[in-house]
Amino acid sequence: MNSLFIVFHVILLASSVHLTNAASYEYFKLALVWPTTFTRIHASGMTKPKIPQHFTIHGLWPTNFSLPWPANCANNQPKYHFDKSLMTATLQGHLAPDWPSLLPGQSNMDFWTAQWEKHGSCSAERFAQSEYFEKALFHRHNLDIDGELKKVGIIPDRIKTYSRSAIVNAIKKTKTLQVEPELVCFPDNGNALLWEIRVCFDADLVEIIQCPINKSKGVNLCKTKSNSIIIPV
Ligand code: 5GP
Repeated sequence: MNSLFIVFHVILLASSVHLTNAASYEYFKLALVWPTTFTRIHASGMTKPKIPQHFTIHGLWPTNFSLPWPANCANNQPKYHFDKSLMTATLQGHLAPDWPSLLPGQSNMDFWTAQWEKHGSCSAERFAQSEYFEKALFHRHNLDIDGELKKVGIIPDRIKTYSRSAIVNAIKKTKTLQVEPELVCFPDNGNALLWEIRVCFDADLVEIIQCPINKSKGVNLCKTKSNSIIIPV
């Protein structure tokens, strides 16, 4: 009885150590950004030769159900720092159209480095660098958010507005998803510009899961008056 009790406590202690470890996480969030909105917010006045007209990847974030979220995990485990030599020409070629830097002054490589350092390093025990980037691309393609929205007539436009529920339902009823994504907006003259669509996955990056309600301060979850969301061109 006593030894069972000790074993039980050792297991409990081990799991709590794991949970408080900076590199532990509970699920993933794939953040897809609408480039025109991003450019208006972060790079107004600056013009990229061609702003992508499809959702691109902002990041793939290992996350916890409650705060704090893990970040910059290579600070404690230097072996997980970004390794540029792993970014083969093939991988870069695949990433460039779907995970580009949208900031005119920032190269794609700098953007990938920053995302890996802040986020990817925190799931490096499970997903090594190349696999992390490939998984993000795989899911971005598999979801085909652009195609699903188009199917129900939700098309980027300068002034046309859509309701949050129309966008959410378009995504929710797809075969791949069937759960509610997280929408992020930016206020604009009484309307809201759709900024990001975020989809959540289990810790193994296999199953899509319902994103928990985002309780972080300052994030605008597009819960504005109905029919007020613009997906700008
Ligand atoms: P925002 O607060 O504007 O949604 O996000 C700001 C930054 O916080 C993002 O660029 C991202 O790095 C981080 N972030 C936002 N939401 C999450 C989340 O759910 N999990 C993690 N790990 N980071 C997040």
